[in-house]
Amino acid sequence: MILIVDDKQENIYSLEKTLHAKGFQVDSALSGEEALKKCLKHDYALIILDVQMPGMDGYEVAETLSGTKKTKDIPILFLSAVNREKHYITKGYDSGGIDYITKPVDPDILLLKVKTFYRLYEQTYALQKMQAVLQIEVRQRQLAQEGLSLKLEELNATLEALPQIAFTTDAQGNVDFVNQQWYRYAEDKDSWPVLHPTDAHIFEQWRLSMSLLESLEKEVRIQERHSNTFRYHLLKIVPIVQNQDQVRWVGTMTDIDVQKQLEKKKDEFLSVASHELKTPLTSIKAFAEIALRAMKDMADHKAYGYLAKVQDQSRKLHSLVQDLLDISRLESGGLVVNLDQVNIDALIDQVIESILMTHQHRRLHIERTGERLNEPLIADALRVEQVLSNYLSNAVKYAPHSDLITLHTAISDGFLQVEVHDQGIGIPRHKIPYVFDKFYRVQEASAQFQGLGLGLHICQEIIRQHGGTCGAQSELGKGSTFYFTLPLINSNGTESN
Ligand code: ATP
Ligand code: MG
Repeated sequence: MILIVDDKQENIYSLEKTLHAKGFQVDSALSGEEALKKCLKHDYALIILDVQMPGMDGYEVAETLSGTKKTKDIPILFLSAVNREKHYITKGYDSGGIDYITKPVDPDILLLKVKTFYRLYEQTYALQKMQAVLQIEVRQRQLAQEGLSLKLEELNATLEALPQIAFTTDAQGNVDFVNQQWYRYAEDKDSWPVLHPTDAHIFEQWRLSMSLLESLEKEVRIQERHSNTFRYHLLKIVPIVQNQDQVRWVGTMTDIDVQKQLEKKKDEFLSVASHELKTPLTSIKAFAEIALRAMKDMADHKAYGYLAKVQDQSRKLHSLVQDLLDISRLESGGLVVNLDQVNIDALIDQVIESILMTHQHRRLHIERTGERLNEPLIADALRVEQVLSNYLSNAVKYAPHSDLITLHTAISDGFLQVEVHDQGIGIPRHKIPYVFDKFYRVQEASAQFQGLGLGLHICQEIIRQHGGTCGAQSELGKGSTFYFTLPLINSNGTESN
């Protein structure tokens, strides 16, 4: 908007008319004082200012305007009766936006000047706006940068306080910070601790993690600097996404060597103990069987009952020792399956029968549903029997108040799926993912039911070696379904169905 300041209404009127005709918005003031008030209230792009006015003249108005931040940059077009020297025009008004026009006003010259000032105003306004936006952005960036370096300092201080080895890297994996612990294993920041030759593939895995932006967790052995000993460490590297695109990695290596050695000793002990236990136990079991057979005509005798209990308990003990042996074989990579043709349908019936035999004190009913597999399967019969037997024993054990178990078989996508369903105590939802873990027992059930928490872990390993999978679904208080799959490969190595 343009402000016209003149003490004569008719002058204002004619100027207004000329400017309106060209589409300019116009405001007016009849005195210097009124002009100053209006300037403080509104934003004007230009002031057309009559020099000679009663009271405050044009120069005084201009001088006052130049002293206020809000108004000092408004361009002024003086209207004067004569062509005045420029030095008359007030000092300090240095915006460059000063010009004059003599009376009587030539409308063409007026419009030319107004347009020039208006363009100047628009450009200045746009520049100011852009500058303000830029200033905000610069400030924001400064703040973000300050925040980041503060966070980085905090992170480094935290990492320095850790008892583990800790380091950070840039997005490409170049180490840029290490804590003091690092130097127990590495010469300097830029060289990595020496890895055991069999763990050297870790860098490849990390490169993969970097490309997927996924964290990495691995056990590695690294060499102490002044000795030849390698110590087990748990390496953990996690990505930190700072801005949308900026990634850093924070890594720690925790010394787990003592735990590893203890675990190794425990496995050795388990292996030796179970081997040593197995031999006398097999004899006890065998002699109990022979003795029972020899006494079959004396089944009413008290001693027969005692002996039957000895046989029963030695069977249980035998299966426990067998599990321990399997676990130690599993740890040393020695649990292998001997594949051969197996009539899986007959095997299932046989296992069901032996479970019913061993639980005669209960009125168990094991129902078979689903498809039957007519062709033989390539598998390790003894091991698959072990899995079935474990699944069914669990279904019996963990359903003390329900005697109905369903064994369902289905064939799909080249796999045989076997499901064992019970109506027992069930498993809390958040604990289901762990039931196949070594020594894992659901705490709520562990006091009430005996077990080592090994059965399912061994089953999973056996099924894995066959190329199948295991899983469970369960609802607390309602029952569970445990399943496993076996690939349908016949003796020619092709898929059967
Ligand atoms: P064992 O080594 O003698 O088999 P276990 O039965 O405790 O001991 P797993 O068979 O491995 O060990 O089972 C692990 C845990 O899973 C069990 O302790 C139990 O809490 C839970 N679980 C397994 N089967 C069932 C089931 N059918 N219903 C409810 N919980 C089950
Ligand atoms: Mg079990």
